[in-house]
Amino acid sequence: MFNLGNLSAPSASTATKKVKVLVLGSGPAGLSAALYAARAELEPLVLTGMEFGGQAALTHTIENYPGFPEGVGGPELGELFQKQAERFGAKVEFDTAQSVDLSQRPFKVTGDNGVYLAETLVIATGARPNHLEVGGEVELTGKGVSYCATCDGWFFKDKKVIVVGGGDSALEEGLFLTRFAASVTIVHRRDTLRAGKVLQNRAFQHPKVNFIWNSAVTRIVGGDKVTGVALKNLQTGEETSLETDGVFIFIGHTPNTQMFRGQLEMNEAGYIQSNVHMETSLPGVFVAGEVTDDHFRQVVTSAGMGAAAAIQATHFLEKQLV
Ligand code: NAP
Repeated sequence: MFNLGNLSAPSASTATKKVKVLVLGSGPAGLSAALYAARAELEPLVLTGMEFGGQAALTHTIENYPGFPEGVGGPELGELFQKQAERFGAKVEFDTAQSVDLSQRPFKVTGDNGVYLAETLVIATGARPNHLEVGGEVELTGKGVSYCATCDGWFFKDKKVIVVGGGDSALEEGLFLTRFAASVTIVHRRDTLRAGKVLQNRAFQHPKVNFIWNSAVTRIVGGDKVTGVALKNLQTGEETSLETDGVFIFIGHTPNTQMFRGQLEMNEAGYIQSNVHMETSLPGVFVAGEVTDDHFRQVVTSAGMGAAAAIQATHFLEKQLV
């Protein structure tokens, strides 16, 4: 996991720190923003949040981040991001923002360990995949339970997998999994898909894809790895079991934006709205990664957004000095 030794110790609990750039979140977006802000000599401070490295750190091997032809471990990549940012003067503090006041600058962020006053803010708090919240899900995550086909599909070469969900993500990721898996069974709680017609037709016509309708996964079974699921037909109540090597869950994401509600413009799903410059509705507040992006959701795109956000924060601060 991350190099905890380099994290600033939680200092005096009531300390107030003033910074030019405060980055919320330690995933690829946040740490890339920190790298760019550090190289602009802005001495950024990163608040890690509860999950070091964000969702990327939960991925066993990342094989599509450029520069690593043999792939790189998710936690290892995060540690490299951290080291690189720190080399140029970024500070990474083990703290989680609990509330923000964006009504005036400097922006006020209250964390578990103190208060931060920031001239600019880069919000990179990410999104979390929604969980089924059934038995075995937590224990078997990374052992056959996955929320990312692009990240983990390759590990299911010639295996049987199930996909839970009936939206665009479930079908798109399910179709992606057909490149590797021997069969992809989509388990949906209704008999009508939410996904668009084009994806539906592709899925219906694909020889490796089949459907189980009106059904819920009630338990994921396995020891060292997933071996099967328990299913319940929601119309008849019938309970069955199904052998499978993998369970991919695509039942939506929730952006981590609760504390910004009412202070920044968001779309209906709670993603913070931004323009191509990663600017939000409030000057001086920038966003990067999955907190604003419900489309690409890749390490490389999040890192790119982080860099862009920091470049814009730099320009913003330069203009203040003129
Ligand atoms: P989504 O559209 O919200 O679909 C979530 C699916 O999961 C729904 O079918 C839902 O069932 C099911 N579901 C929700 N909670 C569940 C639970 N607890 N147990 C079992 N099933 C559950 O989410 P998404 O597919 O991630 O898409 C999010 C947005 O991104 C959408 O606007 C989508 O159009 C867009 N997107 C677009 C593309 C593309 O255009 N290529 C690709 C990916 C995503 P019900 O249908 O019964 O509600």
